[in-house]
Amino acid sequence: MSEAIGPYRTAWCGEVLADQVDNEVKVAGWVHRRRDHGGLIFIDLRDRSGIVQLVFNPDSSGEAFALGHELRPEDVLSVGGGVVRRAEDTVNPELPTGEFEVQVTSAKRLAKAETPPFQIEGFSGEVGEDTRLRYRYLDLRREQMQKALELRHRVVAAMREYLGGEGFLDIETPVLTRSTPEGARDFLVPSRQQPGSFYALPQSPQLFKQLLMISGYERYFQIARCFRDEATRADRQAEFTQLDIEMSFVGVDDVIAVNERLLAHVFERAGGPEIAGKMERMGYDEAMGRFGTDRPDLRFGLELVDLGDALRETEFKVFRSVLDGGGAIRGLNAGRREMPRSELDGLISRAQELGAKGLVWAFREGDGWRSPTAKFLSEAELADLNQRLGAEEGDLLLLVADKVPVANAVLGQLRLDLAERFDLIDENENRLVWIVDWPLMEWNEGEKRWDALHHPFTAPAGDFDPSDPGAARAQAYDVVWNGQELGGGSIRIHDAEMQEAVFGALGIDAETARDRFGFLLEALRYGAPPHGGIAYGVDRIVQRLFGAETIRDVIAFPKTASGFDLLTGAPAPVDELQMRELGIGIHKSKLAGH
Ligand code: ASP
Repeated sequence: MSEAIGPYRTAWCGEVLADQVDNEVKVAGWVHRRRDHGGLIFIDLRDRSGIVQLVFNPDSSGEAFALGHELRPEDVLSVGGGVVRRAEDTVNPELPTGEFEVQVTSAKRLAKAETPPFQIEGFSGEVGEDTRLRYRYLDLRREQMQKALELRHRVVAAMREYLGGEGFLDIETPVLTRSTPEGARDFLVPSRQQPGSFYALPQSPQLFKQLLMISGYERYFQIARCFRDEATRADRQAEFTQLDIEMSFVGVDDVIAVNERLLAHVFERAGGPEIAGKMERMGYDEAMGRFGTDRPDLRFGLELVDLGDALRETEFKVFRSVLDGGGAIRGLNAGRREMPRSELDGLISRAQELGAKGLVWAFREGDGWRSPTAKFLSEAELADLNQRLGAEEGDLLLLVADKVPVANAVLGQLRLDLAERFDLIDENENRLVWIVDWPLMEWNEGEKRWDALHHPFTAPAGDFDPSDPGAARAQAYDVVWNGQELGGGSIRIHDAEMQEAVFGALGIDAETARDRFGFLLEALRYGAPPHGGIAYGVDRIVQRLFGAETIRDVIAFPKTASGFDLLTGAPAPVDELQMRELGIGIHKSKLAGH
């Protein structure tokens, strides 16, 4: 830590070390632990730098000794005393300051603490997360949380340091703005001055960073807060932090190169895996084909295989109807496994939960299968399937017959489940990969329209034929670390006509486009450079680097999975007057109890 200043301390607790022996010091902090030992009172005093032992002695501590008796955990204290070396047999090897202690000569309690709802010292995992979040200011006192936030600081500092060094300017963009194009639901803020009008909180600074390129800023970054009002899916926060980057006069390879250097720098500063030279790249189609996902975890095999060709002539009704309906039969070889029937049934339920109609399981036995499905397939088909799956005696095979996206999603997830079940992942291995060459759009069957896979400002690769949007590829890239997306971005459309054509293909009519994104379309007409960028989920990166279970553990004041801030009680009703000023009423049907 830096120099200790202020009237309460001359040294940091965690830095009471050899060079201070025989010196008088003043330290300040919280009572971490208190022990009474036959007349002597030992206090572990804690500040952000660490812990030091204080000794209150009836002979030498004078008036301070009485206070020593009264102290309770989490009381705030400033003490003065001499630093001494502890007797050899009382050295605490667990503490960096464990060879020393402060013999207290003066002490002042600066604040009393009530008994905390959970122990800060000796915290056990049994404390429920709701309690931790309710008393977050106490939870944050714990070493674990402090380390997480220190790491977060290091990560963000390294980002700023690297990008600043490469000529990127840190520029803030508005939080009260209009809807941005990430496709989630907006958080809205009613305007008092314009009743009936609303700001939207940004889902990302996407449009502003593009405008900054049009304004000639060349290289921009921001540690930006983003807001997406989504049904909180697994471990997400509606309010989260992105490292947002944009640059001009570049193509895909340039953005990737800068970002490989950025990640190498950040990981080096924050204890992540070493990135030496270029990272691996994989096409989207290959990722989907081999792993069923655009976020493949490459640390283990169990790759997906397409089995349609082996079953072209099949008379097994279930397979036949899927193939005739344009679906796929895909499978994976889980290796030589023992699995009781109950667990196989569990896999079937899991597949159904994930959206498949069913799951075929089989163990290779001789030239055929031991499987309830074996009797529906010919010998030749079984042999062909075994061959395509590389199945050896005793291997467990899993097959899904369904629409392609369903088969991929289900097998992609089962692959991950199995890796965990059979402990196939070497936790020391790290695989970073760029997923490139994305489709520009995907068909939304529910809404019967094309959706942008990334966002509507992503530039197509090569020519764009609006009559065949499904064929268009995108100049987009995502970076994936051990199966988790860290960030993603694209080269953007910098031509107003192309932007309008893409909007058109996405079913965004000219009027809607003008209404929502008119300012961008207009700006594109005043000389827009080719540009592109990326955004990273900062919370996720820190979580991964720290090895935390949830991103909530690396955010100082997170919300619960359902969006509540248990500390402040947000969201909360506001008073009648505020509502009146905003010209807002709440519909009865939306109020609790209706
Ligand atoms: N704005 C995008 C997002 O939030 C990232 C980008 O395209 O740069 O996903």
